[in-house]
Amino acid sequence: MPVAMAGTLTNGALPLRLTPNIRVKNAEQLLEKLKRFRRDGTDALQVITDFDATLTQVFIDGQRASSCHSVVENFSGFPQEYKDKANATLAKYQPLEMDPNLPFDTKLKYMNEWWTTSHNLMVAQDIHRDTVEHIVDEAVRNKRFSLREGSHAFLEVCTNLRIPVTVLSAGIQNIIEELLRRESIAGLVPTAHHDTIGEDNMDLDAEEVHVVSNKMLFNEEGRLVDFSSDFIHTLSKKKYLRQYLERNPQRHARHNVLAMGDLITDVSFLEAVPSCKNSIAIGYLNYQEKEDELLESYLDAFDVVILRDGSMDLCKQIIEYAATSETKDAGTESHDSSAVSTGCTGRIAGC
Ligand SMILES: [Mg+2]
Repeated sequence: MPVAMAGTLTNGALPLRLTPNIRVKNAEQLLEKLKRFRRDGTDALQVITDFDATLTQVFIDGQRASSCHSVVENFSGFPQEYKDKANATLAKYQPLEMDPNLPFDTKLKYMNEWWTTSHNLMVAQDIHRDTVEHIVDEAVRNKRFSLREGSHAFLEVCTNLRIPVTVLSAGIQNIIEELLRRESIAGLVPTAHHDTIGEDNMDLDAEEVHVVSNKMLFNEEGRLVDFSSDFIHTLSKKKYLRQYLERNPQRHARHNVLAMGDLITDVSFLEAVPSCKNSIAIGYLNYQEKEDELLESYLDAFDVVILRDGSMDLCKQIIEYAATSETKDAGTESHDSSAVSTGCTGRIAGC
């Protein structure tokens, strides 16, 4: 179904199936980027994605789902006193995170305070390594935590094509990996279950699914005693991605990047990929009531904006398109009945 959009239609037919909740500001530019993805092939491609509200569903059966941190904070096995403190912490710092008028250094200080407080509260619960599985299990059973529709198929395609996926998250690595393990994500290279203080056993060579996030650290008795030393939050993702890529030359060298996030700051991490020559940024604008306020800025930041908690299908289509040979669809591209022409001129997210 063609997408009704504001702006002047171009003659750039996209080889993608676009559902009505998808917006593309500059279809011609997106088409050029897609062609470069395909021309360079899957060996040049990598995926870098946010986790909470990007790989995960925001609403499940109409109810608001949980983030990694709130999955832990709402676990029934923890006392109400802990939940109250965690909620008070959220209420204090979340408005500061969203405040566009705070200077960067001030906001950075608050974010470090927030992550410190939140993690210290978790450590005080004396969480056992095995409890992580129960925490995720309860949240999934209560329909508060789930991969986004199409995420499994997307990750499966990436794994089958040996396209590396880096999940760069301000959440909690152990929680993310547990959900991915439950979902039998074949390419997952888990690290969390073997971690104790001082170890860094990330498999830096695998072209598979890696999670880069805040890591729970357990002692020899399996008790949570700390988190990885520095915090990955919305303001520090870029720094950690740069460090990660420096330790991972295979990913560092791949110059085409498919990036996904639900916040505009999620794609600023592309600046941390020095080898990046071409990127396609997908933004999830999940809240319908925020569309009027935020859509224009999202269209400025992302090549494609997916509204209303939409699926991951378009991301999968992009990967599949990149994996097709140019000879295969030469002569058929312009006649693809599913392709639509959309867009108007404007800035597009790049490297
Ligand atoms: Mg997110």
